[in-house]
Amino acid sequence: MTKSPFAELVKWSNLQYASLPWRKHRSLYTTLVSEIMLQQTTVGTVLNHFEKFLQSYPSIEHLAKASEEEVCISWKGLGYYRRARNLRNLAIQIVQNHQGKIPVESVVLLQLKGIGPYTANALVAIGANKRALAVDANLERVLARFFGYKDVKGIRLQKKISNDFNNKKILNDIEKIGPRKLNESLMDLGRVICQARKASCALCPLKGDCVAFSSGKPENFPTILNKKTSLEHTLKLLRVVVKEKNKILFYQKNHDEWLSGQWELPSFILETSDDSLKQYPKIEWNKKFTETHMIKTGITKYSIENQIVEMNLIEFKRLTKSIDIDYIFKIPNEKLNLSTASIKVLKRIK
Ligand code: SF4
Repeated sequence: MTKSPFAELVKWSNLQYASLPWRKHRSLYTTLVSEIMLQQTTVGTVLNHFEKFLQSYPSIEHLAKASEEEVCISWKGLGYYRRARNLRNLAIQIVQNHQGKIPVESVVLLQLKGIGPYTANALVAIGANKRALAVDANLERVLARFFGYKDVKGIRLQKKISNDFNNKKILNDIEKIGPRKLNESLMDLGRVICQARKASCALCPLKGDCVAFSSGKPENFPTILNKKTSLEHTLKLLRVVVKEKNKILFYQKNHDEWLSGQWELPSFILETSDDSLKQYPKIEWNKKFTETHMIKTGITKYSIENQIVEMNLIEFKRLTKSIDIDYIFKIPNEKLNLSTASIKVLKRIK
């Protein structure tokens, strides 16, 4: 009987990546934390934060009891804070509705607010080691190449792969190999060897059976539609520093804004190439920036020039008389969940 190429893949993955901390001491809770952390963040970044986060919140009950601000502070360095709030909300739902026990059936998991098909399948396959396939962009690419799906990359193809898996058209030996190991090893392969721009097939344990490899042009699977590449917008912001003894004026970002929940220095749009941008109020500022500082930052598709000015409260109230935002004096210590840009600005003016 010929050996499954996926058994070789699992062997390769075990040798290289079995020591990742979320694979060493595994529970459904640690799987939930690691899966949410790993979405949109590299393994290297998660490595620096995973164990510390678990020291702060060793169980789902600890996480459910923590305030949103505390969890966001512990999340610092991982970015995309929506995931931190989502993780805490999931912990609350699981404690309140499932006695703190993370469900292991996809249908039940999908009823939780904040769990989509990928996370549900990851919890079933990786957390519970039951038959499921967590198809994200990495698995989509690896499986499209291995099985020769030429479809356009995206949600439709991910659904097609999931349907083919559910209808037992592909990966029928998953239970023999182990759902957890198969999912993890496919993720490893997509992350390290079968990358979007470069498939390093010479190093790949699957090359003997891979359709894309035998085609000679592995990167052509799946099909990628040409996208406009220039998404970059310029944004010039005014960042205002108003001091009162050891306190500084801040405001908290709303839930539907970038950096929601974080505290930020009063910030206003001076100029932008994106007319639709509504994350900050627009303001007219005709004074020259002669005795001020400027730093450059970036977020999503914006390259930002931050013009920093210090002023007193009377000047600030005059400047913002038509702006409906609650500005509050706060001590800028580590307990305050400050945005990265605000931290940079404050360092600059010290
Ligand atoms: S052989 Fe090449 S294209 Fe096929 S799965 Fe491996 S790295 Fe990807």
